[in-house]
Amino acid sequence: SDDVKRQKIENRVAKMRFSAATARKIQDVFISEMNKGIHQQPSSLQMENTYIPELLDGTEEGLYLALDLGGTNFRVVLLELAHGAPIREEVKRYYIGSELRVGSAIPLFDHLAESVSDFVISQGLQDVELPLGFTFSFPMIQHSLDVGVLVTWTKTFNCPDAVNKDAVRLLREALDRRGDTKVKVLAVLNDTTGTLVQGSTLDHNTAVGLILGTGSNACYLERADRVEHWETERHGEREVIIDIEWGAFGDNGVLDFIKTDFDRENDANSLIVNSFTFEKYIAGKYLGEVVRVILAKLTKERLLFVGDSTSDSLLTSGNLTTDLVSHIEQDSLDGGDSNTKEILAKFGIIPDEDDIRIVQYVCEVASNRAALLVSICLASLIDRIDKEQVTIAVDGSLYKHHPRLEGWMKQYISLLCTPGRKFKLIHAEDGSGKGAALVSAIAHRLK
Ligand code: ADP
Repeated sequence: SDDVKRQKIENRVAKMRFSAATARKIQDVFISEMNKGIHQQPSSLQMENTYIPELLDGTEEGLYLALDLGGTNFRVVLLELAHGAPIREEVKRYYIGSELRVGSAIPLFDHLAESVSDFVISQGLQDVELPLGFTFSFPMIQHSLDVGVLVTWTKTFNCPDAVNKDAVRLLREALDRRGDTKVKVLAVLNDTTGTLVQGSTLDHNTAVGLILGTGSNACYLERADRVEHWETERHGEREVIIDIEWGAFGDNGVLDFIKTDFDRENDANSLIVNSFTFEKYIAGKYLGEVVRVILAKLTKERLLFVGDSTSDSLLTSGNLTTDLVSHIEQDSLDGGDSNTKEILAKFGIIPDEDDIRIVQYVCEVASNRAALLVSICLASLIDRIDKEQVTIAVDGSLYKHHPRLEGWMKQYISLLCTPGRKFKLIHAEDGSGKGAALVSAIAHRLK
């Protein structure tokens, strides 16, 4: 009967619905990994020092550049600041051919430098000294605000001779080879850090930056005296931005107690197996695949689409993208089924009423788990930050477009952080562009 079937399906995904005790356990593990990371003990959280010791103070003026590499687009950005706030922005996108993304790093960095000087010259600024913030959204080890050593390429890039090299130095050398501008690279950062700094211009209580896009990561303002890894001379800094690198949370096995057979298959289908454990539960690159794996298993177990022949397309890894999960979730919110039917039709499936409800339920369970996991970590950060009000600046298409994440996150964070703590979630668009220019302004002021 329908009730029996429904019960079977709920049982099948029951491990994805955390009890309060499991949520607490995850939170304890996250806090413990953060503490280990910051004390330089083995941990799946890198807790990288970004060497950004303070935010804008309202005195920053003039023109600042950003170069954004590693997101969906490659761009050069010019930001004009007055009293520490942006008053004008110019952006130009450049194309990086696939032949430049692999092989020697020299042609790639020459192309980056060429794009910077094309932009600067088109603005008539070739004779102006321009500070530049370099958003380099790849795993790196930072030795100071303007030294970032590439650990490994990811996404679509692979220029092996750049690994273990300082990305800033590679860029400076390429700019020097041209010698046609007066651009000064003052800072290297990633999109998460840029988001926090960009958020701070919208809300001065911003103390956390969060990315929920293709990948996921977060950073926060930490008390400087808690940070052990500090290679440069200290100048009485009170705070510093710590880049958690939480995509890798659990890579050492500490989160294995929440792993389901669905997650094991999602991992097995991924490009780099046994890494980015946390990202595979929460990020846009994987959420659709988690849903697809569950639907495929339920189909094979004859709990779903029993009246229909199995769709080969749905059984193929990568075929259900996260934007589709958003559209199905929109149906659940509206109490409708038109998006769900349309999406299933594209897979060659004509569902019955039960199938529709099951597909919507699976999207809800996977999305809800992502929201809860992110909220558990954010609540731990809010508790850790010693401020009356903590604003979390968020960027990324998953957060922007998923119709339920934000609402769930608000609800879960307030349940999970210490009662009475105040927090706010704000959208901070384009931290990887604007944020990097802002960081170069901070670096310029501190010089
Ligand atoms: P980045 O690649 O720099 O993270 P975005 O923040 O735009 O860029 O994230 C793109 C990712 O967001 C896509 O890979 C996809 O997983 C996810 N995404 C895109 N559209 C939607 C949507 N409507 N709902 C949920 N996720 C989406």
